[in-house]
Amino acid sequence: MIIVLKREATQEIADEILSRIEQKGLKPLFMPGTERVVLGALGDERVLAELNLDGHPMVESLKPILSPYKLVSREMHPHDTIVRFGKANIGGPSFAVIGGPCAVETEDRLRSSASVVKAAGAIGIRAGAYKPRSSPYSFQGHGPEGLTTLRTIGDELGLPVVTEVMDTADVEAVAEKADMLQVGARNMQNFSLLKVLGKVDKPVLLKRGLAAKVEDLLLAAEYLLAAGNEQVILCERGIRTFETATRNTLDLNAVAYMKQKTHLPVMVDPSHGTGVRDLVIPMSLAAAACGADGLLVEVHENPVDAWSDGAQSLYPHQFETMMETLKPVLAAVGRDLA
Ligand code: PEP
Ligand code: MN
Repeated sequence: MIIVLKREATQEIADEILSRIEQKGLKPLFMPGTERVVLGALGDERVLAELNLDGHPMVESLKPILSPYKLVSREMHPHDTIVRFGKANIGGPSFAVIGGPCAVETEDRLRSSASVVKAAGAIGIRAGAYKPRSSPYSFQGHGPEGLTTLRTIGDELGLPVVTEVMDTADVEAVAEKADMLQVGARNMQNFSLLKVLGKVDKPVLLKRGLAAKVEDLLLAAEYLLAAGNEQVILCERGIRTFETATRNTLDLNAVAYMKQKTHLPVMVDPSHGTGVRDLVIPMSLAAAACGADGLLVEVHENPVDAWSDGAQSLYPHQFETMMETLKPVLAAVGRDLA
């Protein structure tokens, strides 16, 4: 339930209502705005009827929450959440681009790829140390050594790093080295992992599952917020459809839809979304045009020699072109590059 208080309602009134909500076993939320105070009550809304809030002299209106997700809902939290990643803000007026190879391969290779993305204006570096591969015989990532390499390069270039965590057992190690933790598509509904990440004091980049509905993604994010972590970014990375021309189908409907339904930032990964290098720039521009808050893009110093996802990794010159081409598109929608 969303409870909008009258303009003249005092802090004491808000506190009194919040404590009555709590006594009924519901979770109270306090959301002060510039104009007026909004309160929330999470839980079984039928219990709230006993509080007779509709008759309270300082309550202006009551609105039930119909969506199954609450904390991530824009109804509850009308203003955009801004997630801090290094020195950059994700979710504000500026568009944030994070680039890097699919995986941490060698230190020298990561240095070259990351230097390219930094020089072209990316705000952060991506690279996986733990790789969720379809085949157990494919390169699985360097694990802890990969994390150390990633941290070294991030520090050397002065850029924050995001990397995937696949297992609850690795959360501590990844959180120690990374500035943001990525939950991959295959783990979007790993609820044990989400509950642990909800307790971590680092932002989480939550990717949409291959066969997950938008509502499933929002409910997965709800796990993180319910466990205490509000620094969450959603990432559309393509879903499986009947279409086989591309690796996945990048669902940009979902981006525009989620920007309306949630206050959390929404990023787009056009690399996994298409699986095809030459489709990455057009879909990046489309993502910028439809309201995404940024991109997660695979870039490799020499994609033909990449240990994973070479076919969808941009060449350095393509990443530079992408960054330049984004500028007029962003300007057209009233934004700029972070
Ligand atoms: C990745 O970002 O390298 C990755 C494995 O992504 P996804 O989980 O979206 O497949
Ligand atoms: Mn990849």
